[in-house]
Amino acid sequence: MRDLLPWRPKPKDDELLSSWLLRVAVGNSPKLHTFCHIVWPNRHLWNRDLDAMAPSDIVQTLASLTGTSATKAWGTTLPSLEGTLYERVRVNNASRWVLPLGVYHRTRRRAGQQWCGECLRHDPQPYYRKNWRLAISSTCSRHGLVLADRCIECASPAVPHRGDDPNCHVCGSDRRFYPHLPARSETLQFEHNLRSIIAGRARPPATLKHLYPVAFFNLVRQVLSIVTANPRAQRLRDVVCKHHGGDPRPALFETKLGAPELLSSVDRHRMMTMVAHLLDGWPYKFTALSAEAGMWRSWAMRGHQDSIPYEYASVVQRYLGAGPT
Ligand SMILES: [Zn+2]
Ligand SMILES: [Zn+2]
Repeated sequence: MRDLLPWRPKPKDDELLSSWLLRVAVGNSPKLHTFCHIVWPNRHLWNRDLDAMAPSDIVQTLASLTGTSATKAWGTTLPSLEGTLYERVRVNNASRWVLPLGVYHRTRRRAGQQWCGECLRHDPQPYYRKNWRLAISSTCSRHGLVLADRCIECASPAVPHRGDDPNCHVCGSDRRFYPHLPARSETLQFEHNLRSIIAGRARPPATLKHLYPVAFFNLVRQVLSIVTANPRAQRLRDVVCKHHGGDPRPALFETKLGAPELLSSVDRHRMMTMVAHLLDGWPYKFTALSAEAGMWRSWAMRGHQDSIPYEYASVVQRYLGAGPT
């Protein structure tokens, strides 16, 4: 076992591996890259998605250098949610529920690292939460805000290991003082429950509590995909917002693929609000609103068939019409 480092912070509550490593490194060395080069010579940790890749030897070394348990150290990684939120994290391809960073050489092209300015402002030492990398989170439960995902001044994604965190590495703007955008209360409640499920503190809501978490999250994602990127999505959004309020406009996708993971935090927040209403009292509100929107079976079943859970498919089959004949 290696010697313990002089400064050995443990992971904070829900802290990401990259955030923890950054705090360990800058507490022990004037430069992040000097530290990493000494501990892991010839390993390039920062030009990939470190939290998604989570090389086990890196995590183990960091655990032993800081006197942290292996379980707690592994809990900082995105693969630690395999079997709960998703089956597997895929590193080179789009991964369900993981916000992509779009790492290209030393730059990041996508706003996959969200943050809450108030959380960063109140942290004794600012750190980045694991749930801020997930598409199930567009809100902060503690502060009731919509998460930020791009610099308010220059629109750059957050790259905490570059520049003087928590300042933007491009323009220097302080991420802690991002303007407040209040979250919708029903979405806050909904996402808070989702975060509690992945943390093992809650189960899916009453009529879905028999589902395994992965199946439940697959159902959530299927509903999210039919409100965002389905040929009937606009009609469904119009109907949901007519009954429950909200903004039914389409989301602006960064690409034409239409995956929910490519939405901005603000757009995803709008869409998750509609998902919260559609899942409320499952399946009756979903089936009533879908029928009113003309979301017939074939539209509702669009998507990656292997990932559509039986619970969803059976409701669609049983309650939604086959469409005009
Ligand atoms: Zn917060
Ligand atoms: Zn900036």
